[in-house]
Amino acid sequence: MKKKDSAYCSFCLRPKEDVRILIAGQEGHICENCVAQAQQMVDEELMQPVKRYKFALTNSMKPRSIKEFLDTYVIGQDEAKKILSVAVYNHYKRLNQKPLEDVEIEKSNIMVVGRTGTGKTLLARSIAKFLNVPFTIVDATVFTEAGYVGEDVESILSRLLQVCNYDVSAAEKGIVYIDEIDKIARKGDNPSITRDVSGEGVQQALLKMLEGTEVMVPPQGGRKHPEQKMVKINTQNILFICGGAFDGIEKIIARRTATQLIGFKRNEDETAVDRENLLQYIAPQDLRAFGLIPELIGRLPVLTHLDPLDATTLRAILITPKNAIIKQYEQLFLLEGIELKVDDAVLDFIVDKAIEFKLGARGLRSICEALLTDAMFDLPSSPDAKVFHLTLEVAQQKFNQSKLSLLKIAS
Ligand code: ADP
Repeated sequence: MKKKDSAYCSFCLRPKEDVRILIAGQEGHICENCVAQAQQMVDEELMQPVKRYKFALTNSMKPRSIKEFLDTYVIGQDEAKKILSVAVYNHYKRLNQKPLEDVEIEKSNIMVVGRTGTGKTLLARSIAKFLNVPFTIVDATVFTEAGYVGEDVESILSRLLQVCNYDVSAAEKGIVYIDEIDKIARKGDNPSITRDVSGEGVQQALLKMLEGTEVMVPPQGGRKHPEQKMVKINTQNILFICGGAFDGIEKIIARRTATQLIGFKRNEDETAVDRENLLQYIAPQDLRAFGLIPELIGRLPVLTHLDPLDATTLRAILITPKNAIIKQYEQLFLLEGIELKVDDAVLDFIVDKAIEFKLGARGLRSICEALLTDAMFDLPSSPDAKVFHLTLEVAQQKFNQSKLSLLKIAS
C-alpha cells in the first residue's frame, strides 16, 4: 500500500505530497492542517472558565486548619468558627463515604443566630473562600409560597447550579448559606387567621429541600422563563447553613432561662446568667417560640450563636483581619503614592462612635468614610502630598461635620 511506502499524516491520512508540512513524531506524523485544528480545540477548551471542584479530603481540610483560616478573616466568634469547621469537615467526610459502608452518616445542617453585623455573612463568605465545593449565598426574604409574587425556594438550587456551570453532580455536593432565615418565621401566635404567604408555607417548602429529596429546578431560576426545561437535583448531600438575627429572641431566652433557673439553684454561680449575651443560651425551643416550625428546627440540628461585638473586638476588626478596613484605606492612599497614618486615639474614637451610635461593625466603615472623604477628595490633586496624618483632632472635626453626627439628634 502507498501509505506504508511514504510518510503521511497519522490523523487525516493525507500523504506527504498533499500537505505543506509534515511533523514527525515517535511513531507517526501530523500535518499543518491537523495541527491547526488541534490548536483550535485546545483554545476552545481553555477558554471555558471551568472551575474544577475537589471533593477529596486533604490534610489542609482538618477542622483546626479550617478554623485557622477563618481566624484570618473573622475576629472572635470562636464557638461558631469551631462548629462550622467541624461541620464542613464532616461534610467532606460524608462526600467521601463509600456507598457500601454500614453506617450512613447523615448531614447536619447548621443554624447560626447572631445580631446583625456580627459576622454571619462574613463567616459564610470566608468558608466559601476556603472551600473548593460549589457555594452560594441566598436571602430568605425573597421567598414566597409557590404561586405568589416572589421566588420559589427551588431558586436556591438554581443559584447553586449557576455557580458550578450547570454541573449537576457538583451542585449535589455543594453548600448553601440561607441568610435572614428569621424573616420566614410565622408572624403572630395564631397561624390560621390570615394566609401567611411568606412564613409557614415557605418553611414547609424549605423543609423538604433540607431533608434531602429530589427537586425539579428551573436552571435559569425564577418564574420568568416558564418554557425552560427543569433539571432534577438531589439535595441529600447539599449542606445548608442558615443564619438570622432573630430580633427579639433574647426576650424569649431571658424568659426561659429565668423560669428554668428557679428551683434549680444549687449555688450562686450556677445561676449567673450573662444578660449582655443571652444568645449563648439559645436552644431549639427558643426558635420555635420565635415562629419556626419544629420540623424545620429538627432539620437544622447544629445550633450556634455569634457573640455581640464589644469595643476590643470592634477595634480588632478595624486593623487585624487580612482585609481589615484600615488596611484597605492604607492601600487606597498608597495607590496615590501617599502614606496614611492613623493615630491609635483615632481608632478608639471610631470604636466609641460606632458603639455610641449603635452602628456595630458595619458602622466602622461609614465612620472611616466620613473621616477620610475630604482627604481622598483633595489629595489626588496635590502632587506634593506624601503623607496624610489622621489625628484625633482632625477625626473629631470631620465626624462632627458629617451626616453621621446627626444620627444622634434624630434618634
Ligand atoms: P451579619 O451577616 O451578621 O449581619 P456581616 O457578616 O455582613 O454581618 O458583617 C458586616 C461587616 O462587619 C463585615 O463585612 C465585616 O467587615 C464586619 N464584621 C462583622 N463581624 C466581624 C467579625 N467578627 N470579624 C471581622 N469583621 C467583622
